[in-house]
Amino acid sequence: MENFKARVREWLQKNDFDCDIEMDTDFGYDWGANIVHIGTSQYPEVGCWYKKFMFKYGLAWSHVTDDVMCMIHELGHYSTIEQFTDIELLMCQFVKSEMLDRMENPDTMFKYWEMRDEFAANCWAIDFINYNIEAVNELIEIFNERSA
Ligand SMILES: [Zn+2]
Repeated sequence: MENFKARVREWLQKNDFDCDIEMDTDFGYDWGANIVHIGTSQYPEVGCWYKKFMFKYGLAWSHVTDDVMCMIHELGHYSTIEQFTDIELLMCQFVKSEMLDRMENPDTMFKYWEMRDEFAANCWAIDFINYNIEAVNELIEIFNERSA
């Protein structure tokens, strides 16, 4: 695991992401601490809906893995967070926490991913994946070796 973290940190540095990482049960971005949380839980169903969502909004290739898509989504928060004021982010968080109780179907999930801060992160992630195939492939390799 330490080797995995070291490799992810190296990848972040190489690709000019100035944030740290932490292992956690779920993915997330802590904007106060500037730390991306790397989740270890698996949600195959949600992963499948998320891929559909990303394709709907322009993701161009299909071999990107669920965990790497989540990681790049969190980097999307890191990269777009400054578009929002603290109040806006707190509002989004409030609405999303209400939604999180009803995440059992794709409609609710799509609405969640279309919330302003999520949508900004998702559009950023789609562009990043589409236009940085080499970097994304490196990250896929790092994540795959973690689970191997
Ligand atoms: Zn998010």
